[in-house]
Amino acid sequence: MRLRLGLLGIGKIARDQHIPSLEQSPDFVLAACASRNATVAGVPCFPDLETLLARVPDIDCISICTPPQVHFDAALAALRAGKHVMLEKPPAATTREIALLAEEATRRRRTLFQSWHSRFAAGVDAARDWLRTRRLVRGRIVWKEDVHAWHPGQRWIWEPGGFGVFDPGINALSVLTEILPGEVNVRRATLEFPANQQAPIAAALELRTDDGVTIQAEFDFRQKGEQSWDIELTTKSGSLKLSRGGAGLEIDGQSRMFDHGLAGEYPRLYQRFAVLCRLGRQDVDWRPFQLVADAFLVGERRTVAPHTI
Ligand code: NAP
Repeated sequence: MRLRLGLLGIGKIARDQHIPSLEQSPDFVLAACASRNATVAGVPCFPDLETLLARVPDIDCISICTPPQVHFDAALAALRAGKHVMLEKPPAATTREIALLAEEATRRRRTLFQSWHSRFAAGVDAARDWLRTRRLVRGRIVWKEDVHAWHPGQRWIWEPGGFGVFDPGINALSVLTEILPGEVNVRRATLEFPANQQAPIAAALELRTDDGVTIQAEFDFRQKGEQSWDIELTTKSGSLKLSRGGAGLEIDGQSRMFDHGLAGEYPRLYQRFAVLCRLGRQDVDWRPFQLVADAFLVGERRTVAPHTI
């Protein structure tokens, strides 16, 4: 039987990815939505999660697509109502919040799927497998996109807890932490804040692996023209390049093709959520989030030109 799912926060990602994936899903039925201002045709819609939970008590799970500043209260309410929860990235506004949610889910024996959609990009599994037996020499991440194209009119991204350029940058870190055989931490960071905003528009990170290898990361929201979502890793026995956010993979300059059965990150994400719900398991990995938090902790702050949303 398909699981009955409630979707919270009907905005860009809910409409671009979650709803189309749920419409095709053999595992879920979109049984209700909650959003303050938006509705979805043909689905019972409520202005907030509390009302949804009260009016549709037989819902099995809640998928949260709101900005990170409001994830914690919603996820806690859903878990306390006995529902499984899937969280969009970034998982929460503070690292403590995600730790508390994981504890709550364990206590209530509910699934918490703290998702990283980029880990489900087509090339990521093959990149991880290829790297497993190789010794890294250096790495470079270039994650540069036009904020006006990808986050049109979104105010929350510039507010405290909104992550700024780390909203996409955390995707790169989610892929890096997934494919590296070892661990990585932040040595240095420089964060550029527009004079009129509370979140960075660009960041440069120097990461270091537990073998002492340096990985440079550049995140920028001011990119025009061609967009870059690339990770290049050089090893003692060949090099790897993930491009298009992990959808493309080249090894030693040769493109690799994939067949995962399911096309796209979000169908695979929901397939994973279904497995977790049925097994009663959790999937929580907040290392990418810790790296971002650490970049804020050790980062040098620079003020740059004001940014118009
Ligand atoms: P969005 O277009 O702003 O949509 C989020 C929705 O959440 C809003 O439309 C709003 O709907 C609701 N909401 C509830 N509380 C809110 C608050 N305090 N401030 C603003 N909105 C609030 O944002 P999005 O692009 O869908 O991103 C949502 C999450 O998905 C983020 O964590 C983001 O990182 C992640 N994500 C986005 C993309 C992308 O391409 N945009 C890709 C992958 C992941 P109501 O006003 O109707 O309540």
